Formats: sequence, C-alpha cells, structure tokens
Amino acid sequence: MSKIIVITSGKGGVGKTTTAINLGAAMNYFGKDVVVIDANLSTPNVGLHLNSPEVPVNLNHVLNGKSNIFEAVYEHDSGLKIVPSSLAVSELKKFNPARLKELKNDFLKISDYVIVDSAACLGEEAISAIEIADEVIIVTNPEMPAITDALKTIKVAEQKKKFVSGVIVTRVKRNRIEMKPETVKEMLEVPILGSIPEDFCIPDSLNHKDAVIHVFPKSKSSRAYKEIAAKIVGVDYDSKKDREKFWKRIFKRDY
Ligand code: ADP
Ligand code: MG
Repeated sequence: MSKIIVITSGKGGVGKTTTAINLGAAMNYFGKDVVVIDANLSTPNVGLHLNSPEVPVNLNHVLNGKSNIFEAVYEHDSGLKIVPSSLAVSELKKFNPARLKELKNDFLKISDYVIVDSAACLGEEAISAIEIADEVIIVTNPEMPAITDALKTIKVAEQKKKFVSGVIVTRVKRNRIEMKPETVKEMLEVPILGSIPEDFCIPDSLNHKDAVIHVFPKSKSSRAYKEIAAKIVGVDYDSKKDREKFWKRIFKRDY
C-alpha cells in the first residue's frame, strides 16, 4: 500500500529539500517506486535540485484546478519521479495549500512512496503538508534553535494525530560545540532515524543540478541517506562496503 512521508522541520535551511530528494533518490536506488512532491509552494526548490526549474504543468496548476496531478509528474533519468511547484512570483498570491488535502488520494496513486517536501515555519503551508501525512519525518541540525523548532513541529504533528517516525539530523560536523545525538534524542523524545554529515558533495551536487546520490553515490552523505532509506524500505545495506576503494579515497579528499 502506498504511503505519504512528509519531510518537515519548523526551521528553514536545515536540509529538508536535500533530505526529501536524497531520501527519495536512495529509495529509488533500492528499486522502489518513489515520487518527491514539492509542497513548499512559496519557495519551491525540488525542480531546481533536479534540473527541472520550469515545467509546463506544475503542482500550482493542479491546485488551481487547471490540470490533473498525473500531468505534473516528471521522471528523472534515474527513475525517480518529481512533482515540481511554480517558481513564478505571479503564482504566490494564487495558491491555496489547504487544497493539498483534496489531492491526497491522487498523490497515493502516483507511486508506492510519496515523499513530500514542505515549507519552513508552522504556517498554513507547512501544516497543510503535515495534514496529508501518513508518516512525518523531522529534519533538524544539531543546534538549539533548530531543535526548538523541531520540537514544536513534533507537537503540532502529534496534535494532528500524525505518526512521527523520527528525526534526521543533518549537517553533522562532529565538533565539540554541536549537540550530541543522545541529547537531540532526549530533547525530542522520538527516534533518531540517522545522521547526515556535513559534506561538500551536497552543494557540489547542486551545481550539477542533481541529487548527491546520483552525482557522488559513494560520498559520506550519500551513504548516510542510503542507510536511512534501506531501513525505511526494509533492505540490507552495508555502508562500509559501499565506500570508495581506499586509494581512490585518499586521492579524493573528504569522501
Ligand atoms: P531546507 O529545505 O530545510 O530549507 P536545504 O535542503 O535547502 O534546506 O539546505 C539548505 C542548504 O544547506 C543548502 O545550500 C544545502 O546545499 C545545504 N546542505 C544541506 N545538507 C547539507 C550537508 N549534509 N552538508 C553540506 N551542506 C548541506
Ligand atoms: Mg527547502
């Protein structure tokens, strides 16, 4: 049975879009049928990340009743599907995120796994995305402001009777000032699904207009996303075996 996994955070800039795309790409790498939907209608980025900034039909057209959802689905070379939103400033006043609810059943018909990227803050856009979730994944950085907003988001999701499966901690630098995973877990009281290290391959893959999973499949961030995806789809994955060979690694610093 298909399910909708909403990626949300509270705070902006923590790595939601990066996570939605790369978790989706990693699940697709494991042979699953996945679509990533850009429900960040005010500042959408999914299309930009995957080289489809402007498409003939996008989610805004669907929400406005001008097209059906299946016309707004695009397939990446990898097989990962995406539903981008509009970058046009003229669309900003027209969208009604509350209509997302009406599309839930159609979203479920696109793919087995429907990953929804959402807006920052806890305004109508972000809440409307949470409302269509079968499962909510929280993204945070190991810093107090991000954790505080994550906690608030968990409470909102729980009030809406949503299943919060856990937290993905991104941009982990493993330095002495950032919060330790145990502290994050203690504060948020939900499982930690995994940690994504700070990795220059992520902004570099953005320059390639593609997911890090596709551009640098053996990088430390790709392997971390694959680990989480493998658990979600229930396959075995050994991150250590998936590493670049030793000699390749020492010539490619930071892999
Ligand atoms: P959000 O969707 O929450 O606003 P983004 O996914 O757009 O966040 O990420 C914000 C910025 O952080 C982007 O420039 C992205 O390239 C960068 N970023 C995200 N995750 C990592 C990481 N693990 N290592 C390095 N940079 C990252
Ligand atoms: Mg984003």
